[in-house]
Amino acid sequence: MIDTNNILQVLKTHFGYDSFRPNQERIITEILGGKDVLAVMPTGGGKSLCFQLPALMMPGMAVVISPLIALMKDQVDALRANGIEAAYYNSVQSPDEQSLVLSGLREQRLKLLYVAPESLPQLIPLLTGVTINLVAVDEAHCISAWGHDFRPAYTRLGNLKEILPETPVVGFTATADQATREDILHQLNIPEASQHIASFDRKNLYLDVRPGNNRIRQILDFLRARQEESGIIYCLSRKGTEKLATKLQQNGYEARAYHAGMSPEKRTSVQEDFIHDRVSIVVATIAFGMGIDKSNVRWVIHYNMPKNIEGYYQEIGRSGRDGLPAHTLLFYSFADVVQLRKFMDDSPTREFQLAKLERMQQFAEALSCRRIALLNYFGEHLSENCGNCDICKNPPQYFDGTVLTQKVCSAVARLKEEEALGMVADVLRGAQNAAVFEKGYNRVKTYGTVKDISWRDLQQYIIQMINQGILEVRFHENGRLALTPLAKAILFEGKKVQLATLVQPVKETARSREKEAPDDALFGKLRKLRSAIAQEENVPAYIVFSDATLKDME
Ligand code: ADP
Ligand code: MG
Repeated sequence: MIDTNNILQVLKTHFGYDSFRPNQERIITEILGGKDVLAVMPTGGGKSLCFQLPALMMPGMAVVISPLIALMKDQVDALRANGIEAAYYNSVQSPDEQSLVLSGLREQRLKLLYVAPESLPQLIPLLTGVTINLVAVDEAHCISAWGHDFRPAYTRLGNLKEILPETPVVGFTATADQATREDILHQLNIPEASQHIASFDRKNLYLDVRPGNNRIRQILDFLRARQEESGIIYCLSRKGTEKLATKLQQNGYEARAYHAGMSPEKRTSVQEDFIHDRVSIVVATIAFGMGIDKSNVRWVIHYNMPKNIEGYYQEIGRSGRDGLPAHTLLFYSFADVVQLRKFMDDSPTREFQLAKLERMQQFAEALSCRRIALLNYFGEHLSENCGNCDICKNPPQYFDGTVLTQKVCSAVARLKEEEALGMVADVLRGAQNAAVFEKGYNRVKTYGTVKDISWRDLQQYIIQMINQGILEVRFHENGRLALTPLAKAILFEGKKVQLATLVQPVKETARSREKEAPDDALFGKLRKLRSAIAQEENVPAYIVFSDATLKDME
């Protein structure tokens, strides 16, 4: 039996910390008690310690599955610096290095062995006779095609539980919505695992979203006031990172590109230079950052829109890990959405990814507190506006939308929470189409109760309700809308709702302004947007610019 009373002592002597971070102690105690665990904790929350510390306290060795070689190396170096016997096993090691690991195994010296999922089949036969006290799966969302970083080799991890039925299997991730969490439990074969979901609120991150025109100029303006600070700019393409890095260098910044097309040596050197403050800006694809432990990243810019909210959250989460204020800036442009859709063309999970992309787009177009919208996505409900996002700082005009929201919520309820946004809007507007009649929805009580609002407007209002956490999109179930506890408070407890007034559609705005100022560059952009909208269905008909944003764009 392991004495859990001295885990604080172990924390001090082996890791040099005086106290636990939120959730760590409970997770560690459960692991020591032999339980399977799934922990979802934000980046920088201290997940590694949750498996490293129990590994030290139990006889035998822990196997840690880790997706990236750089990540393994960092952790093993840090453990060794603390005098802990740790090693990693992967395909880029020389035979000499590998045999060193194997002798460590044979002599039962190792406390932690890190391994890439791809190398696991080779490793397993070598483990015969070694006591395995724990299997830890880091970045566990990689196992789920529903997560945002799917790694096929992760799906083999399910049989670890069969091989080692008595050994606790524990999964750690910083991003997983409800459905992804369930999928992880299922795939790891640990249906009874206890789940620990830490708060996702990173209060020190300022959330900022701006239209993506003239991005380079906007970035140069942004950087001018931040000469000494470290930051990351995420781009969609490898070429994009190189072009932008060059542009920044030409403007006198210590910027470097980073992407998966570069040699491992080059990548490591950029990463090291960044971590040790020799380079202040890294312009990277999403290949950069998983597991990077740099506490003083002061800002993150998304030059292009990420493909889903999990990715966005994880990337902005790399800033401000020291708890000090950090600025996150997302550029939103419709061209990016089109590009991202193209990338998804032949993916087997295309529909699902499209739905997530749409949700990302809705977040970018939010007209209410960004943090509420962001946290809602992860199933966490904030009761007050955050005051630390662009919308809170510069709110649009609101009206009392309680009655409209009640109508929408009761339609969702009467459709038994089985329908997606389009059908809900159709029913409310009293649409006369075949799908409505086939399902008999023309007979439900809310049919035709919102005839006075155009379809497009109603769609925009419903998106606001999603962003405010009143309705929830169930991605894994054809995007059906469901009611949240907040919806119930609005329906039954008289809770009020503020909705943002929709200003004129872009079409109108652009046309009327064109007359006044035909050569204005800003309205050239609006014209482009308008034609993009005309070409593409399913596009938000309204792009709402607040006055301050308009000023920003000029
Ligand atoms: P995550 O994997 O959740 O992103 P890490 O495990 O990399 O986070 O931990 C982030 C940082 O926090 C590391 O530098 C780690 O040493 C530090 N850390 C972890 N636990 C504690 C603690 N209890 N007290 C102080 N620092 C801690
Ligand atoms: Mg980690």
